[in-house]
Amino acid sequence: MQPPPRPAARPQAYPRDVSRTYHVRTYGCQMNVHDSERMAGLLESAGYTRAEDPAGADVVVFNTCAVRENADNKLYGNLGHLRPAKDANPDMQIAVGGCLAQKDRETITKRAPWVDVVFGTHNVGSLPALLERARHNAAAEVEILESLEVFPSTLPARRESAYAGWVSISVGCNNTCTFCIVPALRGKERDRRPGDILAEVEALAADGVLEVTLLGQNVNAYGSEFGDRGAFASLLRACGTVEGLERIRFTSPHPRDFTSDVIAAMAETPAVCPQLHMPLQSGSDRVLRAMRRSYRSARYLDILDEVRASIPDAAVTTDIIVGFPGETEEDFTETLDVVRRARFASAFTFQYSKRPGTPAAELPDQLPKQVVQERYDRLIALQEQISWEENRRIEGRTVEVLVSAGEGRKDGATRRLSGRARDGRLVHFATGDATGVRPGDLVTVTIDYGAPHHLVSDGGVHTHRRTRAGDAHEAGGRPGGAPTGLGLPGFGKPAEPVAAVSGCGAAQ
Ligand code: SF4
Repeated sequence: MQPPPRPAARPQAYPRDVSRTYHVRTYGCQMNVHDSERMAGLLESAGYTRAEDPAGADVVVFNTCAVRENADNKLYGNLGHLRPAKDANPDMQIAVGGCLAQKDRETITKRAPWVDVVFGTHNVGSLPALLERARHNAAAEVEILESLEVFPSTLPARRESAYAGWVSISVGCNNTCTFCIVPALRGKERDRRPGDILAEVEALAADGVLEVTLLGQNVNAYGSEFGDRGAFASLLRACGTVEGLERIRFTSPHPRDFTSDVIAAMAETPAVCPQLHMPLQSGSDRVLRAMRRSYRSARYLDILDEVRASIPDAAVTTDIIVGFPGETEEDFTETLDVVRRARFASAFTFQYSKRPGTPAAELPDQLPKQVVQERYDRLIALQEQISWEENRRIEGRTVEVLVSAGEGRKDGATRRLSGRARDGRLVHFATGDATGVRPGDLVTVTIDYGAPHHLVSDGGVHTHRRTRAGDAHEAGGRPGGAPTGLGLPGFGKPAEPVAAVSGCGAAQ
């Protein structure tokens, strides 16, 4: 069947004083959240202003994810929904970026000829120019590069948070996990220079940001490009000296690269939070081998022992894939066993499903859906029980909470506020007599009740520290400069069972 014709766009360049609006819709992992902030920053630098409603925006950008099942069907469905708006306003432009764009390229403009721009994961910085060129030529622009053009963190950003920021330290991955599409789409690991990272962290802290999350597909392999195996530990220690920065997190480390110097740096740097998200993926050594994950379950548990010996209250979270091709009941039982021993505070659990382009998609012994579902349900039940037990251990303790916006869906009804403890746990708390507590402020509260996915405090706030981040949030301000925001790694209630497999830290 012939694709429907592309609506005629008017070739023109917009004068700078004509304000055009944009809307960016993000799918997938933290890396995409980070990239979307860059896209928004680039568009604002080019004179666009943000629109909340995609249907009314002049430019709509889809930042796509290729990890989720049916990602392409969902994208084309969303593009179809926008078609009437585009037909009604031929000046509207639609751009598709991210991993699915990197993978499908011209296929996108063939299947949806009303799309104006397709750009990949390596050339985010080209977005405004591609929009301009598509407008000028009245033709779709597809530009996909095979390797990184500009490190995304050097591009402007429009950050979402006044109190927490993402800082990308590396992009890409040198591993070849057989279930993961990330290396094919994000390329080999590229490490950012330590001085540039620190400059970004310092700029964030100078703007009042209290928390940064160092971000990389395989964050603790940082330094492999310039041959310094101790670089990640050194970076943690250096970030710990930045004045005003109170919380440092990182995601996601790979067990293979988790060395004792990193644990020592975590333990000896007060600003590094007692939290670790480290993907397990499977507790079966046979499955780990088939996944081409180079550690074994004993090594994984040894790392946790070492972390807990140095940081006794560390909250550990993980990613687990259920139903990898060839996984036997015995393999799965081994995963349950590791989960029992690891005592994760929370886990992102995924049902394996084929991802075209990954080696695992070609493996024999793909498991029937009902087998995967049944194992998945058992894993969830076990992890829920452990999460609950671990959260109940916090009852009676006093914790520091960085108040956040939008994390407590029932806050209005319960008259509570919400935020994150230093170990990443979600806390819903009543303010008691304290007034004027704002997102970005720091409070201390005593935990009354540990639920499976959050902690509750109803005794009122013991201390309330007003911060510059709170002032900025109240005033609607955002940190300036290059970096990103929204710096809280996934933690708390596990992701919906999306029947997907993640790259490292791709869970959302
Ligand atoms: S799962 Fe993580 S370590 Fe493995 S290839 Fe994907 S991004 Fe790299």
